[in-house]
Amino acid sequence: MSKANPQPRGHGKAHGRTCVGCGEKDSPAAFVRLVLVDDGSEASRVLVDVGNSSFGRGAHVHARRGCLEKACKGGLSRSFKTRVVANAADLGSEIAAGTDRRLEGLLLAARRSGYLVLGADAVCELLEQRKDVVIVVARDTKTVVSRRPIAEAIAEGRAIAWGTKEGVGRLLGRDEVALVAVTSASIASELRAVFAQGDACRFSGDESEGRAVAGLGRVSAAVSEGR
Ligand SMILES: [Zn+2]
Repeated sequence: MSKANPQPRGHGKAHGRTCVGCGEKDSPAAFVRLVLVDDGSEASRVLVDVGNSSFGRGAHVHARRGCLEKACKGGLSRSFKTRVVANAADLGSEIAAGTDRRLEGLLLAARRSGYLVLGADAVCELLEQRKDVVIVVARDTKTVVSRRPIAEAIAEGRAIAWGTKEGVGRLLGRDEVALVAVTSASIASELRAVFAQGDACRFSGDESEGRAVAGLGRVSAAVSEGR
């Protein structure tokens, strides 16, 4: 297979890392680091290095289900040259939990810097004016997603279904928050990247993912049928 985009020799790939699942090289941001826990028992375990800062022997894996599965089926053992017993769904939940905490941190950072807009009316008004904001819709929200600007933002992929009204509210010091908009382009793009990473790691047994995908799917379908 020929490469459509050849890299100049000695550049770009120098810091590439290899996925212990699919075996492909990628940029560091695409990976999650797994650290070997060798407690002297017959089989070793791995932990997710959430902050990318743990000492110890590490391996990199794409933050997605298929690569986690391949890593657990032999990729990790081969990489660490020792028998590693790991469960892909457990690692996926651990990664997703880590991305949830990062999403919380990003929302708080957005609020501190004045880049967070709360409330359905204010968010709708903003969406009418700007196309570059990302909205976060609580998963247990029903009514606000039928409002036209919000439904359009969801259909156009500018929305993230995350958390609950109560959980987002607690994070922001309110009773319940169903909807927020992030108006900083850089925070918004990081928010999407982190969300996508967590979402790609959730296995089908995780009901919260099913709800999120089903919810957004329904809204998108309703919007496109209505046109
Ligand atoms: Zn991979």
